[in-house]
Order: sequence, then structure tokens, then C-alpha cells
Amino acid sequence: MSDQNYKFEGWLGHDKSAADGNMKWGEFEPKPWEETDVDIKITHCGVCGSDLHTLRSGWGPTKYPCCVGHEIVGTVVRVGSKAEGGLKVGDRVGVGAQSESCLGRKGPCEACSSGRENYCPFHIGTYNSVHINGGKSYGGYARYKRAPSHFVVKIPDSLSSAEAAPMLCGGVTTYTPLKYHGAGPGKTVGVVGLGGLGHFAVLWAKALKADRVVVISRSSAKREDALRLGADDLIAYAEDPDWATKHASTLDIIINTVSASVPLKDLISVLRFDGTLVQVGAPEDPLPSIPLFPLLFKRVKITGSIIGSPNDIREMLQLAADQNIKPWIQEIPMKDANQAVLDLAKGKPRYRYVLVNEPEEESKIKAGL
Ligand code: NAP
Ligand code: ZN
Ligand code: ZN
Repeated sequence: MSDQNYKFEGWLGHDKSAADGNMKWGEFEPKPWEETDVDIKITHCGVCGSDLHTLRSGWGPTKYPCCVGHEIVGTVVRVGSKAEGGLKVGDRVGVGAQSESCLGRKGPCEACSSGRENYCPFHIGTYNSVHINGGKSYGGYARYKRAPSHFVVKIPDSLSSAEAAPMLCGGVTTYTPLKYHGAGPGKTVGVVGLGGLGHFAVLWAKALKADRVVVISRSSAKREDALRLGADDLIAYAEDPDWATKHASTLDIIINTVSASVPLKDLISVLRFDGTLVQVGAPEDPLPSIPLFPLLFKRVKITGSIIGSPNDIREMLQLAADQNIKPWIQEIPMKDANQAVLDLAKGKPRYRYVLVNEPEEESKIKAGL
């Protein structure tokens, strides 16, 4: 345990039923302290689709007990003597989905030495991973987080903690590939799935000045929202079997955020010559097969992308601050984390839930209220 006067407690999943609203509040052992670490008193934590996949062991066996949550914002309460970034007790900071890389010991690898820590072969997740020093990583549905300082970023003053939190995973996961693949003037962007990630993709594509942004959603239920977020159109693909033919060869870049499988054949149909399909959604089932001839005849690229580096996060936060970009969030008390996860499974958030630690909550949770 830490030698400080706070306890590491949070919502723990003990088996797959955690995803059915069965996380239990309890204490956990953070990674053994290193002088490169900081401890953060968590104020906010976004609820990401990956939390749900992990709680139900959807991507393979989860290392239970597991505390999920990797869109963490809070206040620094302890700083190691070798911490990076000039962090001080009292700073308002965030941690996204990655908490360590080879830089902790073995590095730097090619990815880390070029500022792409998210592609490090020793990518250590903020939860459900094991740190290089052997400690398990626990996420942000909790009171405190211990993280290596390299992966802790300061939050610009003009962003609220609740708005900054979901940017740390959902935000950067869509910002980074849009920027890398050149979303901007002269480009048309398609966003498949209007959820947490998808709504960020619309906001960033507009901020990066893409010519046209089209949401590709199952139904037209989110049309008004899509337009208010800044999209130019919404295609309700499950309502029209001919949608891909009607919109053939219209998009330069597609970001597929869907947490289940979507026919890749249709997505390739709506790509222009030389277009790029970026998979960021991480379904539990295998991807559908890829059709050969559109690849040959349109020279399209199919790729994927994983979160973003600490510097990508800093750049995105600054863009949000500079352009006053507001995600659509709903703040939920930390005590209601089980309900938040159930709601996410039903697609209820509009568009990101953010768990909030309120000081008086601790006693309520202990009393089972
Ligand atoms: P989310 O808020 O639940 O959004 C997912 C969206 O996908 C939904 O809003 C819905 O959009 C669509 N969808 C959901 N269930 C579907 C189904 N059964 N069939 C078809 N479409 C469905 O989740 P999220 O937080 O945005 O996360 C989305 C995915 O990205 C998850 O798989 C997550 O693990 C993954 N992820 C990846 C990274 C990365 O680095 N690559 C980072 C974070 C998250 P419509 O209602 O508009 O159809
Ligand atoms: Zn995430
Ligand atoms: Zn590395």
C-alpha cells in the first residue's frame, strides 16, 4: 500500500457478471510506488466502450479483480522525485488509456523514440495490465490512480475536468487518425457509429476543416444530434439496403467506431479512389472478410489506430481549448457506476457518461446506499 493517508478503492469487477451491473466497491493494491510515479485523486472518469468489453472478458480473459476506466482527470496528490513534466501536488491532470511503455525500463523502442508511445510493443494499459515493475494497473472508477508520470498530462485551464475526461481516450482515439490521414480542407470524412468515439470524430473533423462530414448510423434516430454536432448529413445504413450503392465513392476517409462488426464491403464501396478506412472500434467478433476487387480497383487502404500518445493528447486538448470544442457529456455520480455500464451497453449515453467523485459519496457507498 501507499504510505500516504489515502486508500485505493474503486468499483471492482470480479467476473464477467461485472458487465451486468455487478461491480463491487472495494480496495485494491496499486502498482508498487516508483519515483517516476504520481498519485492522482480522481475527480472525473469517462465511461468508454472498452470498459464494457473488458468487464465481460469480451476480448479474452480479464485479470479480475479489475477496476476499469481510462479517461481519468483529477488532482495530483503525490509526485515522485524523478517525475517528468514538472508536475506538482495540486496540478489538474489526466491519464488516458495507456499508463506505461518501454520507457519505464527497456526503451526507447522505435515507436517511443519517435513520440508514438501508443505503438510501443510494451503498451501497458491503464487497467487490466501489468506494469514493468510487476504491479497490476487499476483504472479510474475509483478514488485514486497511481500512474507513471510520462503518461500524465496537464489539463488546460479553459477546459472543464468533466469535458476533458472523455477526450483522454474517446477523444484522442478519433483525433489522432483523422489528423494522421489528412482530414482537412478538400477531404470528405465518414464516421460510422455515433457513440462516444463517433461524436468526437464529428467534432474533430469539423475542427480540422474537412469539407464534408457524414455520419453513418444504424437508424435516423440520431440525425438531429449529428447535424447539431456539425455533421453535414446522416446515412441510416440499416434502414436502406442500397445505401452503399447510393453513396458509392463519396468519402475520402472513414473512421469506423462501431463496437460490433459492420460489413466492410459496404464501407469500402463508399470510399473514393485512394480512400482510407480506419478501424478504431474493437468488436469482440472477428472482422468480416474483405472483398478483393474494390481493393484492387480503387487502391483503398484499410488500417487501424490505437488511442494516441501523450503528445497527441496534449495537442488535442489544446485544439479543444483554442476552438472551444465541447463534447456532449452527462455527469453521473461515481456511486452509480454499475448503472452507467448497463446504460452504455444499451446505447443510452448522449454521448459520453462521465463518473464524478463527490466527497460525500464515500460514506454513502460504504452504507450501501
Ligand atoms: P459507444 O459509445 O457504445 O458507441 C458505439 C457506437 O457503435 C454506438 O453508438 C452505435 O452507433 C454503434 N453500435 C453499437 N452497438 C452496435 C451493434 N450491435 N451493431 C452496430 N452498431 C452498433 O462506444 P465507444 O466508447 O464509442 O467505443 C466504440 C468502440 O471503440 C468499442 O469497441 C471500443 O472498445 C473501441 N475503442 C477503441 C479504441 C482504440 O484505440 N482503437 C479506443 C477506445 C475505444 P449508432 O447508434 O450510430 O449505430
Ligand atoms: Zn477507451
Ligand atoms: Zn517503446
